[in-house]
Amino acid sequence: MASNATKTLKASCLCGAASYETTVPSSSLPLKSWWCSCTSCRRMTGTLALCVVYLPESYSPPQAVLEKLTVFEFTKRVFQYFCSTCGSHILARCLDDAEAKEPRITWDAMSGTLEQFDGFVHLRGHEFINDTLDGGISDFIPTIGSRQLDRYSTRPEKSEQLPLNWRDPKLADLKPNKDKVHAQCKCGGVEFWIAHPSARSTHAASNWPDLLRPNAPDNPNNECWWLQDNNTKFLAGTCSCNTCRLASGQEIVQWAFVPTVDITLDAAGKVKFERQFGTLKQFESSKGIFRSFCGVCGASAFYWADDRPFLMDVAIGLLDSPEGARAEGLLEWRTTRLSYREDALGRAKAVVDGIESGLQAHGERRDRGEREIIERQVREEGAKVMVVR
Ligand SMILES: [Zn+2]
Ligand SMILES: [Zn+2]
Ligand SMILES: [Zn+2]
Repeated sequence: MASNATKTLKASCLCGAASYETTVPSSSLPLKSWWCSCTSCRRMTGTLALCVVYLPESYSPPQAVLEKLTVFEFTKRVFQYFCSTCGSHILARCLDDAEAKEPRITWDAMSGTLEQFDGFVHLRGHEFINDTLDGGISDFIPTIGSRQLDRYSTRPEKSEQLPLNWRDPKLADLKPNKDKVHAQCKCGGVEFWIAHPSARSTHAASNWPDLLRPNAPDNPNNECWWLQDNNTKFLAGTCSCNTCRLASGQEIVQWAFVPTVDITLDAAGKVKFERQFGTLKQFESSKGIFRSFCGVCGASAFYWADDRPFLMDVAIGLLDSPEGARAEGLLEWRTTRLSYREDALGRAKAVVDGIESGLQAHGERRDRGEREIIERQVREEGAKVMVVR
């Protein structure tokens, strides 16, 4: 007997202007989701993955919601919608055929905008890992519970799967990059460069980040926690706080902590960083705390606070490092804490557990220096999925 049971799916951007809810048949739940690591999605969101959820085919958003959103033509077939006020990517309109007179239209939601993840969303796995060169976020969340996530090199079910810790073979011949790392959003309206740390990188001041010390206490001795690995790299980490999630529309965001003195608006390092440049728009998410995003493509770009003016959180999805999406020549990833995990436990415990265990295992593999072993295994065994231990 067919069931008529339904559930209410609620979604919102950070500022609330583009909130909506819709009724979905319980039989359609959980909705299928993929995390896309392609370069375009990383540049458009500022995060390591676009977390897309396929809505039921009957869904179409109300006009009142669409009016609050800016449309970005991602491809001829996919139109991305983000909040004009706060920058949250919230919906995507997909055509089955860009050339057709009356194409079939379906809508996707960005999972970070959904009030509830557990019970509503089934994350199948990762797609377009190939683009990351270093595995990107797929190495941080290889499993959910006992289920191994799919890891497609390009399109799901139409490409090969890549093993945990896969790296593009061309990275093996790459010399360590000492040049500035280029960064830009998908539309190119926000572009900047980051220099490697130097003596001047200590000239900032900030309380501790929640990533290192929960609840971000004061830092009376001004320890330069943003510098890691003998002051050769900037600290990087993942955040699951509600504000970051809603500002980006993605499940988990990734920030690098970089002094303003190390960011320039030209490759030569002559044009000093300023908070407002290019196509950036700002949103004050709480008093004295700002988030900026590209007004054209919606990419998250920076977070900063009035009480720490010389240090920026930089959206890692914008980085264009020759060493891969995680930019590990420039960044030292904190793998022992998901920042503000407490915010996410109530709505997405499955993801929190998956990313915490995945991150920790990634850090342990890194610290054991397993990379060379893994590279050799990949060379010898090809791109078949290895068992996650
Ligand atoms: Zn908004
Ligand atoms: Zn993509
Ligand atoms: Zn842009």
